Amino acid sequence: MSLFLRDATHINWRTLAITRSHIKVESGPGGGISFVDAIPAGAEVLDCAGQLVTRSFVNGHHHIYSALARGMPPPARQPRSFNEILELIWWNLDKRLDHDMIRASALVSAIEAVRCGCTFIIDHHASPNAAEGSLGIIAEALESVGVGHLLCYELSDRDGPRSREAGLAESKHHLEHHRGLVGLHASFTVSDELLEQAVEIARRHDTGVHIHVAEAESDEEHCRRTYGCSVAERLHRAGALDLTGTLLAHALHVDDAERELIRSSGAWVVHNTQSNQNNNVGSFDPGGLGDRIFIGTDGMHNDMAEAARAMYLEGQTVGGLAPMQAYTRLRRVHDYLDSLRVTGDAENNLVVLDYPSPTPITEQNWPAHVVYGLSSRHVRATISSGRVVYRDGRVLQTDAEQITAMANEQAKRLWKLL
Ligand SMILES: [Zn+2]
Repeated sequence: MSLFLRDATHINWRTLAITRSHIKVESGPGGGISFVDAIPAGAEVLDCAGQLVTRSFVNGHHHIYSALARGMPPPARQPRSFNEILELIWWNLDKRLDHDMIRASALVSAIEAVRCGCTFIIDHHASPNAAEGSLGIIAEALESVGVGHLLCYELSDRDGPRSREAGLAESKHHLEHHRGLVGLHASFTVSDELLEQAVEIARRHDTGVHIHVAEAESDEEHCRRTYGCSVAERLHRAGALDLTGTLLAHALHVDDAERELIRSSGAWVVHNTQSNQNNNVGSFDPGGLGDRIFIGTDGMHNDMAEAARAMYLEGQTVGGLAPMQAYTRLRRVHDYLDSLRVTGDAENNLVVLDYPSPTPITEQNWPAHVVYGLSSRHVRATISSGRVVYRDGRVLQTDAEQITAMANEQAKRLWKLL
């Protein structure tokens, strides 16, 4: 059954065309929307008078596994480099995760996402001692709240052969049942043999790899020292850049030759401003990378309006960025998911905004409203695959209060193990 949005002001996410009309929203993955003159009697209706309706958001690079980290005990000592941040914080945390903690992490992430108008998450997951079954748990948890997904397991040699094999098995298992990616941690923890296996699996499933690239200078230094080439060159030689939908996270310290390799390949880049600031790894320079760029939160939070504003402001410090360019980076991910033929992010994924703007909204200035005005506090309702999953402060498909309480218990359990 279709849902009807009464008296909506619709902003087309791609053309920015503004249309005042009732909207018919088809239900189910892949559904569309249409403008209608009348609403049939007895239909499910959401009154949108005075409110804006536009496409919901997608988080282009996330680490759901870090959801229980907020406020956790500090590491044994203060990290002095990006690699120490990984060793002292994240590789300590991810090894303690079990299935209950993973489920809690995914549920609370999904709840926060729909509250912020986000209905789809591209995730990069690691739980070296609970790899088996982990992606299935995340998929089920996200779906139970109404969030679509493109998942992968972070393959790496960092924890030895047993952990690597468990990751490979989980990757293969997930791809047999879902559209997903093949996750790789980063060049500096991935052997040639593992990289080759990952590309092979991706090829078999007509998908790409999802890997951190040159997040810190040390990734490039390690690659040149060990393999005699840059990170992008290494991926290119392995055939990873030309797979369908390969996703390169960060790409901060890539040189001009790497930019050209990335631009001329089919690979996409996902940029994560606030995480880069948090890890003090540098600013993003889009120069020479082409236009296949979108944004993620890299595990920091679930709020894409906040991520977009941070990215826009960062852009002012590195050569300037127009609101339209920032808006395009927020939205390019829909094209990416489309090119990968992923279900769960279609025209019937919408956000209803209670955005009482002090200034006129036009087809020309909507991107400026997004980067200067829009915030998750304006999200009044979130619609995922034609179904209302969040409305007026309430998550509808699940008991958010109970899940939040459960997550707090799981966080306490996790923190004791750190
Ligand atoms: Zn990441």
